Amino acid sequence: MASTATKTFKNFIGGDWVDAASGETFETTVPATGESLGTFPKSGPDDVDRAVEAAKAAFEEWRLVPAPKRGEILFRFGQLLADQKDELALLMAREMGKVLPEAAGDVQEAIDMSFYMGGEGRRLFGHTTPSELRDKFNMSVRQPIGVVGVITPWNFPIAIPSWKIAPALVCGNTVVFKPATDTPLLGERFVELLVEAGVPAGVVNVVHGGGGAVGDRLVRHPDVPVITLTGSRETGVEVMRNAAENLKHVHLELGGKNAIIVLDDADLDLAVDGIVWSAFGTSGQRCTAASRVIVQEGAYEELQSRLVAAAEKLRLGPGWEEGVDVGPVINRRALEKIHSYTEIGTDEGAKLLTGGEAVNGEGTFYRPTIFGDVDPEMRVAQEEIFGPTTALIRVRDLDEAVRVSNGIRFGLSSSIFTRDVNKAFRAMRDLEAGITYINAGTIGAEVHLPFGGTKQTGNGHREAGQAALDVFTEWKSIYVDYSGKLQKAQIDTAG
Ligand code: NAD
Repeated sequence: MASTATKTFKNFIGGDWVDAASGETFETTVPATGESLGTFPKSGPDDVDRAVEAAKAAFEEWRLVPAPKRGEILFRFGQLLADQKDELALLMAREMGKVLPEAAGDVQEAIDMSFYMGGEGRRLFGHTTPSELRDKFNMSVRQPIGVVGVITPWNFPIAIPSWKIAPALVCGNTVVFKPATDTPLLGERFVELLVEAGVPAGVVNVVHGGGGAVGDRLVRHPDVPVITLTGSRETGVEVMRNAAENLKHVHLELGGKNAIIVLDDADLDLAVDGIVWSAFGTSGQRCTAASRVIVQEGAYEELQSRLVAAAEKLRLGPGWEEGVDVGPVINRRALEKIHSYTEIGTDEGAKLLTGGEAVNGEGTFYRPTIFGDVDPEMRVAQEEIFGPTTALIRVRDLDEAVRVSNGIRFGLSSSIFTRDVNKAFRAMRDLEAGITYINAGTIGAEVHLPFGGTKQTGNGHREAGQAALDVFTEWKSIYVDYSGKLQKAQIDTAG
């Protein structure tokens, strides 16, 4: 397995571990310390082409492996993840930076997804229906599509690949996987374990490298009919445009600007716990992070002071150290972007209540940051910051709270703290988001429910749950006529 000593890693193509055709490499480092964890192939279009060729060839056999057998491989994979949960979590705390309990949660999500999708091997339900004609049988079945291009971000380096690769495989597709360049080591471990679980050569291939060279070639490759991408809105737009030429199936899970609503009647202790977890967990680098808190005026002052006190108690440090609440952010570029939003917010007239600065030293640490008196139209309340920064917005009532919550381009997660069941149900109906939590923060999805967002968070698809199967299969409708004569639908009406 991958140790913490610096090592040289390879691509995995057609069952062989190979270097990039160019021989070029890039490094992955520990954001908490800057130390190198390993060297990876800096691949290009040639490497992608080779991987697609291998995946295309493997598809011809893999699609015929009975789905329950494909599912059994996922059960083994889930068990291997479970056996190595601690090692993987430690590796994640190092390579990606999240604190150990969250890193273990990331791995757990992949375990859950593997077992859930393993079970799909015995379902993959279609429908049988009556026919409008005599002696005729109708059914619909799911069919695999072919080679799936899997492009992932760094913030859930084990969970997100599992959301895509587990359903792709159980449905009978083959995969070319491009992990994020900030977390290639976890991507590599993921594939090693799939191989150990029994995935045949060519069925899963991994090609390391950048979005421009590797990701883009996958997106444009004519033999990759499905692209599944989790990333920023900007990348999503580019991918959709570039995939249009071949009319690919494009599945996008993009950004968020999620809000927690706190009404006057809320349990404020609970609300503060939910906000701290949702705004500062994973250093705010979750697509579902709460980067806005919309507070009814009667609770505003009290909530603000409790929240600032709670944020100031959080301990920053390397994710693997005991008692640390908030790890580093992913890299220096991210740190600079997060700090630029502190400047933007201050310039816009928002009140900086706490944080607002990086911590000096080797690691990329940023203090939990809260802005008060934020206007919903300010950039800090509209744009995804992807760091430990949240904005408090004061509103009069539920209607205004819902309007403000909805007043953004994204629609991923939403939440409301209230003890009034009528208000909770109105929020459930009216919040424009793919996910709504009642009396919980904006994070905490479970793998058997659909996950994804409305509006510009995506393009109408969902991962997880049964909904994920729609991304990775095509429906086929089958009509079996056993009348022995030519019957014409819509024309022969005698019954
Ligand atoms: P990113 O968009 O920079 O990169 C995502 C992946 O796309 C990477 O592997 C990258 O190399 C690749 N890529 C970049 N340009 C490409 C191109 N032109 N063609 C093909 N591939 C390309 O995102 P990131 O910084 O890695 O992740 C953070 C973003 O991901 C945030 O916006 C966050 O909200 C989003 N995210 C969304 C969800 C969700 O489920 N909705 C979950 C996690 C993260």
